[in-house]
Amino acid sequence: MRTREISAEDITRTVRRLCIEANTVLGKDVIEAYEKGLEKEESPVGRDAFRQLLENARIAQEEGLPLCQDTGLAVVFVELGQDIHIVNGDLNDAIHEGVRQGYRDGYLRASSLDPLTRKNFGDNIPAIIHVEMVSGDKFKLLVAPKGFGSENMSRVVLFPPATGIEGVKRYIVQRVEESGPNPCPPVIVGVGIGGTFEKAALIAKKSLFRPVGQRHPNAEIGQLEIELLAKINQLGIGPLGLGGSVTALDVHVETYPTHIASIPVAVNIQCHSNRHKEAIL
Ligand code: SF4
Repeated sequence: MRTREISAEDITRTVRRLCIEANTVLGKDVIEAYEKGLEKEESPVGRDAFRQLLENARIAQEEGLPLCQDTGLAVVFVELGQDIHIVNGDLNDAIHEGVRQGYRDGYLRASSLDPLTRKNFGDNIPAIIHVEMVSGDKFKLLVAPKGFGSENMSRVVLFPPATGIEGVKRYIVQRVEESGPNPCPPVIVGVGIGGTFEKAALIAKKSLFRPVGQRHPNAEIGQLEIELLAKINQLGIGPLGLGGSVTALDVHVETYPTHIASIPVAVNIQCHSNRHKEAIL
């Protein structure tokens, strides 16, 4: 069997670059969603908020400055082909080192600390690493700095089956309503339905990496996303929580088969600073 070699140094170099890029350059899909939001928003204060978000994104990109002071915890997803052989080092160590260098060299805030003593490590590591084995010799890295204004508003609930889809929809909308201005709207709402406790959370998180405005390929799930987005945008929270008709830029739903006794539901809220960058090595 043939294997392809990737060096730990290449992984570190790439993660370093992705940390800096993700924190300074917003995706085209997000910028377009802001522009559409500006057209759709009914409140003058809300429209002004969209103008400021667009201006902020422009300045960050042009001057290489962070889009937000909260540069997040570095969440790193790896698609690791089974025919890949990593040489000159360890995968996890290479990723942590890339995050450490990226946050240091990009002058990005270090937010990682001990959960008990609250002592800041000062280098924003360890990263949160998820590795998925895939076939072939593909090696893909995705870096998503996750701000905690929005992460703090996220939840996993395991409902009894009798809750039904209508109960699940009510819960998702209620979660966004109760979050109010805390997750820095306009938000992207990532929803995972099914699996187990942790699987629901993971698919909710992964759903956030789908381009804003792109519907789920399954028509039924796509329709659910449209319905939830309409309901959330009737809440009136608005851009930056200042009131208005655009509270969410999108809702992304992913599902996974689950147990007969449960409906696991995860709602992972992403703030307007929807940052992620990827690379294939
Ligand atoms: S939740 Fe997002 S926009 Fe709000 S402070 Fe954190 S990173 Fe910044």
